[in-house]
Amino acid sequence: MKNLSERDKQYLWHPLTQHKLHPEMLGIVRAKGAVLYDEHGKEYIDGISSWYTSVYGHCNAFILDRVQEQMQKLDQIVFSGFTHEPAVDLSEALIRIIPENQKKLFFSDNGSTATEIGIKMALQFHFNKGEKRNVLLAFEDGFHGDTFGAMSVSGLSVYNGPFEDFFIDVKRIPVPTKDNIDQLLIDLEDILSENNIAGFIYEPLVQGAAAMKMYDAQSLDKILKRLRKDGVLTIADEVMTGFGKTGKLFASDHIPTKPDIMCFSKALTAGLIPMAITSCTQHIYEAFYSDEISKGLFHGHTYTANPLACAAALAGIELLQSNTIQESINKIIESHQAFDSQIKGHPKVAATRQLGIIYALDLNVKMERYGNLRDKLFQHFMNDGVFLRPLGNTIYILAPYIISEDQLQKIYNSIYASLEIV
Ligand SMILES: *Cc1c(COP(=O)(O)O)cnc(C)c1O
Repeated sequence: MKNLSERDKQYLWHPLTQHKLHPEMLGIVRAKGAVLYDEHGKEYIDGISSWYTSVYGHCNAFILDRVQEQMQKLDQIVFSGFTHEPAVDLSEALIRIIPENQKKLFFSDNGSTATEIGIKMALQFHFNKGEKRNVLLAFEDGFHGDTFGAMSVSGLSVYNGPFEDFFIDVKRIPVPTKDNIDQLLIDLEDILSENNIAGFIYEPLVQGAAAMKMYDAQSLDKILKRLRKDGVLTIADEVMTGFGKTGKLFASDHIPTKPDIMCFSKALTAGLIPMAITSCTQHIYEAFYSDEISKGLFHGHTYTANPLACAAALAGIELLQSNTIQESINKIIESHQAFDSQIKGHPKVAATRQLGIIYALDLNVKMERYGNLRDKLFQHFMNDGVFLRPLGNTIYILAPYIISEDQLQKIYNSIYASLEIV
């Protein structure tokens, strides 16, 4: 029998992969807690929670039990004209923990659809009110997903070339810092007076795909306040930052001005089953609530609010609010701080940053070595039994909340050792 990696090559096409340059896929056969097991029996600590999803650990018994229980009762039902207990329970649990102004939840399947729906809500909100607003505002270097609306508002990427002619009209501003915020607010006046801006989408405080770039909450608040004055709907993409990663339940909890629309996915379902939610205020919902059918939001996915996914999300939210998980989060925050104070003076380290359990360090290396260096780093970590996914010259950790002190130490040691090879 050929191994998985060999059989894979015959029919499979992987995401974000140029197969000619990267033909080898590693077969993973099992995962438990913070550990992945490959088909050769080697173990890896999952230092990025499998793209920020499995934050309560892989194959978490509490979550599996809840989903198995649900599976025996109701597996799937159309969510148009029908409802069910897992969705209703989840709506009540989620509304209790997201910012208070959020009153309605719209389900979909992944982070890209969550932002796509947020964008459609913003555009149709103004349309329903008879006001034509056809331009969106976004941050440079943002990432909001791979569908057309989501791609349009993401930072211009070399990979989007074939599609750019079809994009929504988007104006971009840099993320705010204490130094650029005054100029940025002046530039924003011009953008607002020259365009009919419908909505502004942003990753609050941390831009994940831009290598965990972090920015200032107070400056962001100034932008949100200014946009609100012009009736621009603000869309917080919390697909990456949501559910405890920033040290609060949501990144928007760090910012006084709350968004009009919020997008959730990834850790929403604890890494078990794909699902997403776009939430909005009562004010937005009311612009769609009408005697006219066409004013409704005619968007729907077949698996909307799948009962099993809802059960997983509900179990995840219960865990998130437990003392055990809150203590684990605090322990990771402290461990990262201790690690940071040791490593930040290292000559190979250019900069470090942390928000909650998200920790990132930039290597002090020339950018032309980027391609090879990145692959060499990745391989170094994998050889050490640590799954980290450096972005350019940035190494970041976003480990599951249940990671042990020893496992964290192993990640830190591997990062120290990586400084010797760059
Ligand atoms: C991952 C991500 C998305 C896209 O989510 P998918 O489930 O991969 O479609 C959107 N926004 C942010 C901030 C993300 O991190």
